[in-house]
Amino acid sequence: MRIDILTIFPQMFTGPLTESIIKRAREKGLVDIVLVNIRDYSPDRHGSVDDYPYGGGAGMVMRPEPVFLATEAVRRENSRVILLSPQGSLLRQEKVRELATCPHLVLICGHYEGLDERIREYLVDEEISIGDYILTGGELPAMVVVDAVVRLIPEVLGASASLEEESFSHGLLEYPQYTRPRDFRGMKVPEVLLSGNHQEVARWRREQAVRRTLARRPDLLGGQQLPAGGGGEGEEGA
Ligand code: SAM
Repeated sequence: MRIDILTIFPQMFTGPLTESIIKRAREKGLVDIVLVNIRDYSPDRHGSVDDYPYGGGAGMVMRPEPVFLATEAVRRENSRVILLSPQGSLLRQEKVRELATCPHLVLICGHYEGLDERIREYLVDEEISIGDYILTGGELPAMVVVDAVVRLIPEVLGASASLEEESFSHGLLEYPQYTRPRDFRGMKVPEVLLSGNHQEVARWRREQAVRRTLARRPDLLGGQQLPAGGGGEGEEGA
């Protein structure tokens, strides 16, 4: 997979792309991530990428030319061109799974008050938001998309089983996890996890995942109801 990130601040990506799992995925050649400086495609010699909004108003707007030129320089037939935008559809794991199957993603990071509307209308395939709040630019949202997508590329994570059981994979939040010691300052690990009975452990985890989802994110259950006596907040720990 290849990901081109179009930005006016390429240096912001240094940390996230050069550490940990993303770094290893790049080193192993599982993903090719290219930073494209939109300023390099500015038609004027000062490298300007913004201008005043027609009709007046506060702030500056990203000009169409540099963004069109930068996108056209990297776009291929099989590319998915995505604009990070608070007006886009909310990023969910289902969308992340879909993006992880794309051979080429082009991520456009906006700035200032936003971008010339013609970019939205004529250049991008879709707009993605990472939440109902406004950030200063599309760089952090692009990093979120890259991180979420790259970890789903086959062979990027060691144990693929962890992908199957993690939150959102089956419309449920993940069950509670424990590690050593068994007793930490009087706080004990649930007995069932020490029992060695795999069937009982699986049943307990499933039940905890459902209880936890019902308590924290009932919207994920899509209207499904637990049988009578099902869990509420505070019942998930023991
Ligand atoms: N004036 C715009 C509006 O009200 O929709 C917001 C512009 S924001 C200050 C600048 C850029 O940051 C946006 O063009 C977008 O690329 C990015 N951005 C901000 N919040 C975002 C979010 N929640 N999700 C994705 N991108 C976001």
